[in-house]
Amino acid sequence: MVTNSQLFERATRVIPGGVNSPVRAFRAVGGTPRFIARGQGAYIYDAEGQRYVDYIGSWGPMILGHGHPAVLEAVQKAAVEGFSFGAPTEREIELAEEILKLVPSMDQVRLVSSGTEATMSAIRLARGATGRPKFIKFEGCYHGHTDALLVKAGSGLATFGHPTSAGVTPGAAADTVVLEYNNVEQLEAAFAQHGAELACVIVEPIAGNMNFVRASLPFMAAMRRLCTQHGALLVLDEVMTGFRVGLGSAQAHYARLLPGFAPDISVFGKVIGGGMPLAAFGAKREVMQHLAPLGGVYQAGTLSGNPVATACGLATLREIQKPGFFDALSARTQALVDGLKAVATDNGVPFSADCEGGMFGFFLLPELPQNYTTVMTTDKERFNRFFHAMLDAGIYLAPALYEAGFVSAAHSQADIDATLAAARAALK
Ligand code: PLP
Repeated sequence: MVTNSQLFERATRVIPGGVNSPVRAFRAVGGTPRFIARGQGAYIYDAEGQRYVDYIGSWGPMILGHGHPAVLEAVQKAAVEGFSFGAPTEREIELAEEILKLVPSMDQVRLVSSGTEATMSAIRLARGATGRPKFIKFEGCYHGHTDALLVKAGSGLATFGHPTSAGVTPGAAADTVVLEYNNVEQLEAAFAQHGAELACVIVEPIAGNMNFVRASLPFMAAMRRLCTQHGALLVLDEVMTGFRVGLGSAQAHYARLLPGFAPDISVFGKVIGGGMPLAAFGAKREVMQHLAPLGGVYQAGTLSGNPVATACGLATLREIQKPGFFDALSARTQALVDGLKAVATDNGVPFSADCEGGMFGFFLLPELPQNYTTVMTTDKERFNRFFHAMLDAGIYLAPALYEAGFVSAAHSQADIDATLAAARAALK
């Protein structure tokens, strides 16, 4: 039997760091990444045959769990018909119609192959539609690895972005204004200073890339109000939250709390592809008409709207619309979060946790943080010990303290109970 260590060693010879996306390398938590051989339902199995309860779900897409029969059937049928044509197909229309039915803030969507592409295109569209150069993003929000988005502010007040990756020129980041998440004062100051030059604000409505941090209602309301006042567009990056926190995504959740709330541009990924490379961005017709071939904002893709990926996404979206789907998923996720809190309290461990739909986060902090700086005050060594104790017990959590977790419809109460038993032992 080949071991995870042997595979990692072999991988590092031919792939930088042995992985094709950095967080998979376990650098934050130490140790050897598990090489996954297969998944079924709520479980993944590594090369050594070890089974894990999977709380990553491919970082969000696998909302039905692995190998859902209806999705498998749709993918197999589509694969037989053809992998890719580079010409339009009816299934792209069906998927667009399905997404638009569930997200009324958009009239049209454009399908692409990754969340990175979708956010990059959304920013270009916002710039093209407004004719303005600058945009606001928030520290701790991740929107993919486009140059202008790989930017984080220094501490303190609003600064123009300093690239956080080598290879990104200061010029590429010069029009990115980076602010603190949930900080209304900074937002107001930035609009007062740059309002006429701002094309958009891009934000994760519930930030899943600094663990799990909700946009407060005053913050969300301020973003909406200031964008409207200054003629900028509000871009909600729902790559992670889309069809994951609820059927109408995070925007429906905020619209219930802030009547009339809607973004100008929305970005989706992950769940809409059901585990295949697929993402989308959409808006009202007036905005989308700026896109090529209608308008002057160029955007394209060889594999965009791929026939197999759209089949996978469509089958996934149909499953999550079945009656009671989100009620059951939310209850399961809530049971996990409540259980973890109880276990931590019993063991005197400072702990806070939150969830929405099938997305959750927990912190080894006494109170839920509101921004990236506070998230990063977590005791990293303690988190890493907890992560490894859980992994050894067959529970696969995100290998970094700044990542959200995901529960799927395949997770049973028995899986949650097993997770809580492992957490009890780990926190002792
Ligand atoms: N936006 C958000 C909110 C994400 O969480 C991610 C990826 O995790 C992306 C964009 C980028 O998506 P992708 O990894 O598909 O390029």
